[in-house]
Formats: sequence, structure tokens, C-alpha cells
Amino acid sequence: MECILFDLDNTLYSPHCDLFGLIDKRINSYMHEVVGIPLEDVDTLRRRYWQTYGVTMQGLMRHHQVDPEDYLYYVHDVDVASRLQVEPELRQALISLPQAKVVFTNSCRSHTDRVLEALGVADLFEQVFDIRVADYMPKPYVQPYHRVLENLGLTGSQCIMVEDSVANLKPAKDLGMTTILVGNATPGSFVDRQLDEVVQLPAALADWTVAGSRVAGQPAVAGE
Ligand SMILES: [Mg+2]
Repeated sequence: MECILFDLDNTLYSPHCDLFGLIDKRINSYMHEVVGIPLEDVDTLRRRYWQTYGVTMQGLMRHHQVDPEDYLYYVHDVDVASRLQVEPELRQALISLPQAKVVFTNSCRSHTDRVLEALGVADLFEQVFDIRVADYMPKPYVQPYHRVLENLGLTGSQCIMVEDSVANLKPAKDLGMTTILVGNATPGSFVDRQLDEVVQLPAALADWTVAGSRVAGQPAVAGE
């Protein structure tokens, strides 16, 4: 395996940090105050757009002529440092992984940079692929996965994808990636391994063989 694609939100940090709670409020206020959607319709529309398009933003672009850059700036204008802190254990875990590490997120670059800085791991990622990588088409649409692989010059079978969203791992597996679910969501058959937290990744990869090849590039142990 040559590269690990990490989702950002609720994967590199715990959902218990509730950073998304801040973004969630900003999405609602954007829909009401900027787009002019009546408050009583906001929840229903958000749910519908999220279920139909994977992210609320796609529904707002298609049905309300929202400028995606305006939306991304507004909803990610939150105090990241109030919810996240430097995580030395995460840093050690990432350093111990020999593969190239990239972020593949449905959020935007500036939010990603703020999160990685707050966690103290910004220098450990070679690239960030955000919602712009395939013209604002989010995971789990296949387009951004193809774009990421093209950009990296890799095939799916050379990559591991680490995610808290089960749905986002399905296209990854279809493209031949090794799939690792972080958190307690119910996995599908396309999930190769499930971890409670991302810091468990090095131990999981070090002792694991997929399709006869070492995932972590470490020597095989007797009995495998
Ligand atoms: Mg996530």
C-alpha cells in the first residue's frame, strides 16, 4: 500500500469534540438568513438534500442558485480551536505509518488547514483533496474518488481509505481500495476493518494481510 486517504471530520478527531455542531448551526443560519428559506422548512430541506445529494450544498446549488464558495466560507467560519486541541497520540500514530498520507474531505481546504493545525498534524499530510476536487461533487459520488486517484497517479488497490462514513467507503471498495471504518457505525460488507479510533490504525495495519500483500509494508509474521 502506497497511500492512505483520510477523511477529515469525525475521522481524524472524535465526534465527541462536536466541531460539527458548530458547522451545523452555520448551515442552518445560512439557509435561513442568506438563502431566505423559512425556518420551519430548514430541517426538512436539509434532510432531503443530504439524502439526495450527499451534502446540503448540492441541493442549495441546484435549487437555490447558491454560490458554493460563498456557502463554504460561511458554514466553515467557526472557532475550530474551541473544540480541538493538539493530539500527540495522533501525531505519533501518523508518523509511524510509512505510507504517504493525504486528506480527502467533503469540507473545504481552509477548514481542513485549521483542523490539521489545531490537531498539530498539518505537516504530516502531503496533499489535501477537498470538495472542489470534482467540481463540488462530494463523496460518495464516484467522481471525486476518480479525481483523487488521477491526481495521485495511483490505482485504488494501492490505497487505503479511512472514514467515519460507511457510505463513503462503498465507492472506495468498488475501486479496489482497502477500507477502514472509524467509529461505531454499522459496517457494510465492503468495509475491511473497523476501528474505534484512528490512532489504532498503525497496530491494525501492522498485523493484517489483504489479498496476500502486506498492508503496512512490514515483514509478515509466522502463521499468516
Ligand atoms: Mg467524516
